[in-house]
Amino acid sequence: MCIFCKILDKELSADVVYEDDRILAFKDIHPQAPVHILIIPKEHIISVDHLEDKDKELIGELVLVAKKIAKAKGLSTGYKLAISVGKDGGQEVDHLHLHLLGGKKNYGVISKKTK
Ligand code: AMP
Ligand code: ZN
Repeated sequence: MCIFCKILDKELSADVVYEDDRILAFKDIHPQAPVHILIIPKEHIISVDHLEDKDKELIGELVLVAKKIAKAKGLSTGYKLAISVGKDGGQEVDHLHLHLLGGKKNYGVISKKTK
């Protein structure tokens, strides 16, 4: 089972900031910004590369949840949303996740080099 599925199963603990029937959001364990949240579907989808037409609504919900969390965290001057896809995209966890970064200016691209 992947790390994020273990978090969903409560086998691993996480600092959860949002949950509904299809989505979970929790704090990144190695934050790259004052606010660094990961927003994931509860369904184990490996990456954007594995999305299908049936997932259109789900991917939209991930972005809308990110917006909701950004508002709740007071990120009124902006934030960055990022998704790593596959090996060359710097994806380390093979369970689709949207990064929400906020609380500082001018984010670079999320990659292993910036970690
Ligand atoms: P990516 O490199 O885009 O696949 O991002 C994976 C992210 O998951 C990294 O920013 C890690 O810090 C984060 N991460 C890995 N394990 C955990 C965990 N157990 N709880 C919270 N975040 C994690
Ligand atoms: Zn998973």
